[in-house]
Amino acid sequence: MNIVILSRNTNLYSTERLIEEGEKRGHQIEVIDPLKCDLIIEKEKPTIFYKDRYLDYVDAIIPRIGASVTFFGCAVVRQFEMMNVFTSVTSDAIIRSRDKLRSFQRLSKAGIGMPKTVFTNYSRDIEKVLSHVGGTPVIIKLLEGTQGLGVVLAETKNAAESVLEAFNGLQARALVQEFIAEAKGADIRALVVDGHVVGAMKRQGKEGEFRSNLHRGGSAEIIKLNEAEIKVAMNAARALKLPVCGVDILQSARGPLLLEVNSTPGLEGIEKATGKNIAKSIITYIERNKH
Ligand code: ADP
Ligand code: MG
Repeated sequence: MNIVILSRNTNLYSTERLIEEGEKRGHQIEVIDPLKCDLIIEKEKPTIFYKDRYLDYVDAIIPRIGASVTFFGCAVVRQFEMMNVFTSVTSDAIIRSRDKLRSFQRLSKAGIGMPKTVFTNYSRDIEKVLSHVGGTPVIIKLLEGTQGLGVVLAETKNAAESVLEAFNGLQARALVQEFIAEAKGADIRALVVDGHVVGAMKRQGKEGEFRSNLHRGGSAEIIKLNEAEIKVAMNAARALKLPVCGVDILQSARGPLLLEVNSTPGLEGIEKATGKNIAKSIITYIERNKH
């Protein structure tokens, strides 16, 4: 197969691993920067022009679209979809997953446990907003934050009020969420491929940090998920129509709670922590599903 990885950078661990495993299985793998694609839109003849040629020979794509290029990156994925090219995740699903509010609304409807969350178009009655999630401490997070940036722990009503005012002043929308203290700065990242969990790690934030993001200095180790955790991961992937994704889960006193679903999960942390060949799982998923 001719498989294209849509990525801005060939030298990233995830990109390199997908190239390696794809080539091992006899595929032609090419990395294409979505921002250098011209989308040509015409009656019944959608095409893509890249550098000096038309991309009319591609069998499947693996989108690795960064959060900062969601709009154009997803337009390229959609153009491939219009050309009947198989994609490991669809443009609609990527766009949906980038907005925490939109994802949460869907996930709650699908019956998946999550920290209680409230979204308000700036209520001055902070007391009321806080009472919806059980009072302080609360987590306040930007709708489109990543890597732990834009996630704040507000211990008091005054702190929560200041943070909400600051975000509001910057015209940034935010969610207010129940703080799950018993997670103790740790969370679970489950990698789902083809609807099944193929690897899972527990991430622990560095000393004194409630955010477990590896980008914030957290560490990771392999973990065996229990049945409830596996169910949350698989149901979340299904609800957001993401056959390949990273599902983040908090371990709470009332069971696993969904935190977020990442449509472009990094492979380095999870492969190193688990010793599993996730890149190969993604390639064989494409082989099984591309017709
Ligand atoms: P990002 O998209 O920036 O990674 P997350 O929602 O995943 O944002 O939050 C970052 C980290 O903060 C999580 O991995 C988790 O460790 C911690 N965290 C987020 N929300 C909560 C919460 N409601 N209770 C406890 N910890 C949380
Ligand atoms: Mg996260």
